[in-house]
Amino acid sequence: MAQVLNRRSSQVPTRDAASQSPPAEALIQLRQVSKTYPNGSSALTGISLDVKGGDFLFITGHSGSGKSTLLKLLYGAELPSEGEVWVDRQNPAQLRGNQLAFLRRRIGIVFQDYKLIPRRTVAENVSVALWAQGYSRPEIQRRLQPALKMVGLAHKADCFPEELSGGEQQRVSIARAIVGTPPILLADEPTGNLDPDNSWQVVKILKKLNQIGITVLVTTHDENLIRLANHPVVQIRNGRLYEGN
Ligand code: ADP
Repeated sequence: MAQVLNRRSSQVPTRDAASQSPPAEALIQLRQVSKTYPNGSSALTGISLDVKGGDFLFITGHSGSGKSTLLKLLYGAELPSEGEVWVDRQNPAQLRGNQLAFLRRRIGIVFQDYKLIPRRTVAENVSVALWAQGYSRPEIQRRLQPALKMVGLAHKADCFPEELSGGEQQRVSIARAIVGTPPILLADEPTGNLDPDNSWQVVKILKKLNQIGITVLVTTHDENLIRLANHPVVQIRNGRLYEGN
């Protein structure tokens, strides 16, 4: 179960920020992480969090509280101004070139706005990253069908995004995120554009993925969804992290 470490305590190992080796136990660890953007905007302050392999964690908080920034630190789109981030025993700040690309292959990412390619079919959208990574055609075919089946869209493989509802488009983006079988799935406001029924469908799929062993982190400000889903929650308020919502 995920653990917020709010104070410096005996649970928090004191570590030199430039240390080269990852701490043990958790799949994701943040230690006293702060993020200030170059324009001076302070997004996160002193965040410490442990997420174990197999956890499902909601991150909630108002718009602008720092939820997206937290996820960006995990997939190396942003680097912390202070503190350490460890993901799958690697520190994105210490990775160079291809190493960061390799880490990102172990992290599936789902965005609020789906980010599908309009002129590509569902099948092409889901497999595009595998093509880019040099997977063979038979291997792509072998992975494509189970990923589409997992999100209930095997019958829509040849459709274009504009032929799908918002909920279906989000499910395509989930299939794209998991087709490379990553151990970690980060979903940033995945239900932000969806009605309650479609939101619940998306969360049910995320729960199913968690049941097969994927560690899932979801940002949302939908309290109803959090209640229904019944997983641990942390809240970001003014850039600081608190347990519960
Ligand atoms: P949330 O996802 O909870 O809406 P964000 O992580 O997007 O919050 O933003 C947290 C804070 O950081 C906000 O004040 C936002 O304006 C600021 N911020 C986010 N991204 C940038 C950026 N690239 N440059 C400057 N400030 C940013």
